[in-house]
Amino acid sequence: IQHAITKIHLVKTYRGTLLIISNDFWSMVKSLPSNKEFWLRMGTMNLPYKTTKEASILLREGELVAFPTETVYGLGADATNDKAVAKIFEIKGRPQFNPLISHLPTAQHAFEFGAFSEIAKQLASMLWPGPITFVVPRSNNCPISWLASAGLETVAIRVPDHPVAKELLERANIPVAAPSANISGRISPTRSRHVHEEFGSNISSILEGGDCKIGLESTVLDFSGTIPIILRPGHITKEQLESKIGKVEIASENKIISSPGMLASHYAPKARVKTRMTTVMDGEAFLGFGNISFEPFPNLSTKGDLVEAASNLFHMMRELDKQNPTYISIAPI
Ligand code: AMP
Ligand code: MG
Repeated sequence: IQHAITKIHLVKTYRGTLLIISNDFWSMVKSLPSNKEFWLRMGTMNLPYKTTKEASILLREGELVAFPTETVYGLGADATNDKAVAKIFEIKGRPQFNPLISHLPTAQHAFEFGAFSEIAKQLASMLWPGPITFVVPRSNNCPISWLASAGLETVAIRVPDHPVAKELLERANIPVAAPSANISGRISPTRSRHVHEEFGSNISSILEGGDCKIGLESTVLDFSGTIPIILRPGHITKEQLESKIGKVEIASENKIISSPGMLASHYAPKARVKTRMTTVMDGEAFLGFGNISFEPFPNLSTKGDLVEAASNLFHMMRELDKQNPTYISIAPI
């Protein structure tokens, strides 16, 4: 692999396998005495690079796949599968209150998962595929995992402009949640080898797609209120957006209303919450963990597994909240 392949030689081995070998290696083989028999010991390298067909199957099975987009390489998981989404947070060390963008192959697909206003639809149709993400209310029965949206009533959606991403998303035929494929807080990857270097054998599937053209994250535009608000600046600027749809605001810390983790209280259920509880009173609901749980209330993870617990947290809290308990008591975690 390390030799430049300037010329291709096909060699038939005793098991009938065809090998493609480099020029240098070929010269070395030819310089061996011809009256003797040699055994060449060959190894296989377990490279993570996959085809879009293989990768789409892996995604549907709940595995993670790194793939190229025009902005940066993303680390993708089935956005409708809590467990798969939890793996992204786990492997990146990303705080669960930071929601993920779901990726779709076309604007038509995207419109099924979010409630886009007419103007949002027009703008999306002009700029997609491209480096802009829309934050919109969830559509009715939107199957995107509550963990992917960090418990918010809105979802972030993008149609990336990259042939490999498009092919993958079309084949997988599910929304794919994908933040950048790097450890949280580190530099975003713009080459497939950056992903390999960053995660090593922790990521077993990467799609090669060359160098990312833009190399900067997408602009995040919140379309869930009356005036569109840029939650995160990116390749597409405020001026470009305003030339198409008129007034757009940029979120400042005191103006961000829908951006997570910015408010003193966020992702709070309606019921009050008590943590580290080992008992449950009348009128209360209980969220168990490990061996502390009470029938008929749910358990975040009977095995005490934190990844499983993260994948269950948001949707279980919602279920309990619907019962209007006085308190939701949560077992020690
Ligand atoms: P990243 O995946 O690191 O590119 O970041 C995605 C960005 O979109 C983060 O800044 C998120 O906070 C933001 N985001 C994703 N979903 C939502 C949402 N439902 N509401 C507000 N911001 C969101
Ligand atoms: Mg990122």
